[in-house]
This record gives sequence, structure tokens and C-alpha cells, in this order.
Amino acid sequence: MGTLLDFLIWVRVKLSVYFSILIHFCCNLENILSIKALKGFKDILPDEVGLWQFIEQTARDIFHRYGFEEIKVPILEKTELFVRTIGASTDIVEKEMYTFADRNGSSITMRPEGTASVIRSYIENGLYVRGSVQRLYTIGPMFRHERPQKGRMRQFHQMSVEALGSNSARIDTEVMAMAWQILQEIGLQASLEINSLGCTACRPSFKEALQGFLQVRIQNLCEDCQRRSSTNPLRVLDCKSEHCQAQYVSAPSITDHLCGACSDHFEDVKQTLSLLAVPYAVNAKMVRGLDYYTRTTFELLTTELGAQGAIGAGGRYDGLVRQLGGPEVPGIGFAMGMERLVMLLSQKDKIETRPVLDLFLITLGETAYEKGFILLQMLRSQGLRVMMDHEGRSMKNQMKQADRQNAGFALILGENELVNREAVLKDMHSGEQELVELTPAFEDWAGAVLAKIKQLQ
Ligand code: ATP
Ligand code: MG
Repeated sequence: MGTLLDFLIWVRVKLSVYFSILIHFCCNLENILSIKALKGFKDILPDEVGLWQFIEQTARDIFHRYGFEEIKVPILEKTELFVRTIGASTDIVEKEMYTFADRNGSSITMRPEGTASVIRSYIENGLYVRGSVQRLYTIGPMFRHERPQKGRMRQFHQMSVEALGSNSARIDTEVMAMAWQILQEIGLQASLEINSLGCTACRPSFKEALQGFLQVRIQNLCEDCQRRSSTNPLRVLDCKSEHCQAQYVSAPSITDHLCGACSDHFEDVKQTLSLLAVPYAVNAKMVRGLDYYTRTTFELLTTELGAQGAIGAGGRYDGLVRQLGGPEVPGIGFAMGMERLVMLLSQKDKIETRPVLDLFLITLGETAYEKGFILLQMLRSQGLRVMMDHEGRSMKNQMKQADRQNAGFALILGENELVNREAVLKDMHSGEQELVELTPAFEDWAGAVLAKIKQLQ
């Protein structure tokens, strides 16, 4: 009797242990499943990645044609770098930066844009000794704490370029022509708007005229503009409020305040853009949101993305390198937002991306599978993109996989084929089939398959 009771207690204890493990597992499972990406942060899934690669490869190719070299800079920098370059009273620094205390208490920031880091690296690594003009580009994620919406993310990606070391208006034109060419070659329509913000010699007189204009209307302006009229008056021209914009129609124009040198520079930019047949329009109200700009500024705009119409923007920043402790080196750059380019392209006709796989290797039977596994490696070493099934699926099922993977060809290797020393190569698009002779020397098989594929292509 005692042993039966012991047994029942034992069963009860065991059951309650199993039950609590089950409950724990279920609760955790729920936790695991409920973890989602952060708001404004997005996965770029395999189905979308083809477009990203297409844009990036086209841009890289164009950057190289224009003599730009890639530079990779860190995502985290000292907060001070961005405050000093972008400007303390800009939207980015005032409200958009991801800033944290590092473990040692120092303030660090996830880069909200690329220029500041590239200039820091240019100075720190003395890149100016490589040659008088350095053409650099970088591609990667940026971080801004903005309200997420269509075309506006908290982690987004930019391709940005910087040309450092020349004052020539021709560099401005080359850089804008390059941005224009990228849009042309990826197949997007946009308009190019340009302006000149003058230099330290002429901008103060414009600032003064603008402040005078704003002072008279200060009560009629939005809160942001009221504040900015004293902290950063140029930025009011960028205000999104229609009410403010209606009043700025009669605001003084920067182009009337440019000094001789800036005016000549701007004329040169316009003339050389026309020379290269790059269409543009002057927008004297475009001021850009960052403090470091001087002279030429520009934006690439589309009407197809609603409020998020800017797909790229940039300008000259002649005092920035000096301001960060480097030599007196002028510069110009721009950044294009990848998300907006991808969105625009995905609204258009589907872009043909190359087949994901060159070949799917179908094997039937143990011997064919073992041979096939080594052949798979040999074909990959020859440069082919090849896959095979490891789950012992039927021929029909493997063929379906080949189809799903968008394979260009399927190679069928079965016991009979091994006996007859030949495999069947099927063109998955035309359905055409050819026999590949399998020589006694196994190491020649990959070459024979490759030769047959070339013959069929
Ligand atoms: P916007 O006026 O749309 O806020 P911006 O002036 O802040 O743009 P820049 O700092 O000049 O933009 O960045 C250049 C490009 O980077 C923009 O033209 C845009 O394509 C892209 N971009 C900027 N912020 C974002 C974001 N939060 N999400 C996605 N793309 C962005
Ligand atoms: Mg912005």
C-alpha cells in the first residue's frame, strides 16, 4: 500500500514539474513571438533586397566612373562631432539624434548623417596628403529619431559623397551631374533645384535683411519660426507651414545679397550645368537644414512620394574642415536616401533581377546523392550558384524547388545516369534538355556541366 502511495506522490510531483515546465515554455514562447522590431526600424527582406542591390551597384559603378573611392566610417561617434558640424540649433541636433551615455559616461551618438564622420576621418587620417582633391563616398545606415511614416524611418540608409579640396564650380557641377546620372540610370524622374547660400562675407548681410523682415511679422509666424528668427533665421525659409510660407513669398532673396565671388561662382555652376545638359531650377528659398553649408546647395525632388519629396540633397561646406581642426580645405557633397529610391522604383515596372540560382542539382538515390554533394562543391568553385536538396525529396519535389529558386538550369543525376555515364541538363526557362557526358574522371564533371550550360545559353 505504502509503495502505491509513494508511486502516486512521485507521479504527482513529476506531473507538476512537467506542467510547470510546459507553462514556463508557453509563457516564454509568447514573449519570444511578441518581440518585434523597434518603431521606425525595418527589416529589408530577401524579396526587396534585389532592388537595393541594383541601386547600390548602379551608384557604385557611377561613383567609380567619376573617380570617387569608398570610405567606411563608424556608426558611433562622439556627440560633439555632430553638434559642432551640423549645428546646435538644427532639427537633427535639437530633436533627432540617438545620443547615449557610453559605459564610461561620455556622450556618444549614432550618426544621423555621413559628412561629419567622413570629414573627421579625413582630418584624423591626414587623407589630404594623398592628393589635393579627395573624392570619397560611403553607403550605410543613418539614425534619426523622427516620426516614422512613408519614406521616413528612424534607421534609414544613405549613399553619400564628399569631394574635398577644390573651390572650382566645375566640381559642384560634376557632383550634381553624378547625382543626376544615378537617377537616370536607375530609371527615376526627379527635378534638381539649386541655390547659393553665400559665404561668411555675404551671408551676414542677408541674415540681417531677413531678420528685419521677420521682426515686422513675428506675431504672424509659427512658434518654430518665431524661435528661429533669432537663433537661425535662414531656417525659417524651410518651414513646412503654408501660413508661414505665404508670408515668405516677399522675403528678401539670398541671391540678391551674394558677394561678387559667390555670385560669379553661382553663375559658373549654372552655366556648366547647362553645358552638360543637366536640367535645373533655381530655388532661392532653399536653405537646407544643416549649418555647415556655404555657396551651392541643391536638392533632388520628386512629386511621387507626398511630403517626403526629397530624394537627395547636398551642398558646399567650405569652412567645415577648418572648423573641425583640419587644414583650409573646401568641400562639397550630397546624400541620397535609399528607402525613397527603393519606394519609387518599386512603384514602377518590375526590374529584371538575375536568376538567384544558375543551377539546381537534382539527385536520385544514395550513390548519386553522394557524388552530387561533391559535384555541388566543384561547381561552386567554378563560380556557379548551385543548390541541392538534403531532405531526400522526390524528383518532382526537387524540380519544384528548382523552379521556386528561379534556377536557370536543373541537372538530373540518378542511378541510371551514373550507369550510363551521362546526366540530364534541363533549361528551366525553355524546357529544352541536353545530355551531359560524364567522363570516367570525376574531377572533369564540373567542367563538362559548365561547358554544356555555356553552349545552351
Ligand atoms: P527631409 O526634409 O525629408 O527631412 P532632410 O533634409 O532631413 O530630408 P538630408 O539630411 O539632406 O534630408 O538627407 C538626405 C536624404 O536622406 C533625404 O533627401 C532623404 O532622401 C533621406 N532621408 C533623410 N531623412 C530620412 C529618414 N528619416 N528616413 C528616410 N530617408 C531619409
Ligand atoms: Mg529631415
